[in-house]
Amino acid sequence: MHLLNADLHSHSTVSDGTLSPEAVAARAHANGVALWSLTDHDEVGGQARARDAALALGMDYLTGVEISVTFAGETVHIVGLGFDAEHPAIMQGLADTRGGRERRAREMAEGLARVGIHGAYEGALKYVGNPDLISRTHFARFLVEQGICQETHEVFRRYLTEGKPGYVEHRWARLSDALDWIHQAGGVAVIAHPARYHFSPNEEYALFTDFKALGGVGVEVVTGSHTVAEYQRYADVAREFDLLASRGSDFHDPAESHTDLGSLPDLPGAVTPIWEALSHRIVRA
Ligand code: AMP
Ligand code: MN
Ligand code: MN
Ligand code: MN
Repeated sequence: MHLLNADLHSHSTVSDGTLSPEAVAARAHANGVALWSLTDHDEVGGQARARDAALALGMDYLTGVEISVTFAGETVHIVGLGFDAEHPAIMQGLADTRGGRERRAREMAEGLARVGIHGAYEGALKYVGNPDLISRTHFARFLVEQGICQETHEVFRRYLTEGKPGYVEHRWARLSDALDWIHQAGGVAVIAHPARYHFSPNEEYALFTDFKALGGVGVEVVTGSHTVAEYQRYADVAREFDLLASRGSDFHDPAESHTDLGSLPDLPGAVTPIWEALSHRIVRA
């Protein structure tokens, strides 16, 4: 079971990826993925297309989403898997979560204009596939297009993170609400890329403790945004908190993403893969 090529974290044009759900499915399949999930940010509008494309290719599918949450003043991402994408609880919760993005984007553009970068809102919009989901990634692509930075990581470092001119403080969903929507819709919750948060040890402990208490069951151990040392560290955390382990590339774009779909090491042997507990929720090809 450990050798199953599962990729349970990826993005399409429905959020901040650059490929359509069908093209992400085709790329996952070409790379040998056997179980796939499209996990667009705060949006399930691509789920039916992703599932249909996966099944047509002979690839098993789990519904997915990556929900933006604010915990201890920091943005945390919670991946939901195996839920009913048409359940009103999750549809309404995600619609509310997306709601603030438009205004945040206008404020980001104002911040950038103050340092001489004009037209960033309109510029970012050119890259937006879903008008409801303008993200920092779209701004990053515009700044690269303008030659202001060489690549998107540099844009984030110089312009789009805390303390930088294009950064706008934002309140996302509560952890308890995100888990409630996922659970009401029959799915399971996973902490995405835990090594990427800027928590103190106490805050990280609080995140995992609260997440467990709210019924969360999984944590990403092998992800495109973890180092090899971090795979080991979060395999240990998964065991400490009795969480199932997930694996996903966090693929967004063939050039921008350093980890391609399905191209990740296996989970460490000491953890239980989350898909072993999800067999009844997997849509089989
Ligand atoms: P947002 O939800 O609008 O705050 O955008 C978050 C997205 O920005 C993440 O899902 C990543 O796709 C992207 N992102 C965040 N930090 C970085 C970074 N340092 N380099 C490249 N992309 C990043
Ligand atoms: Mn993203
Ligand atoms: Mn994320
Ligand atoms: Mn992601």
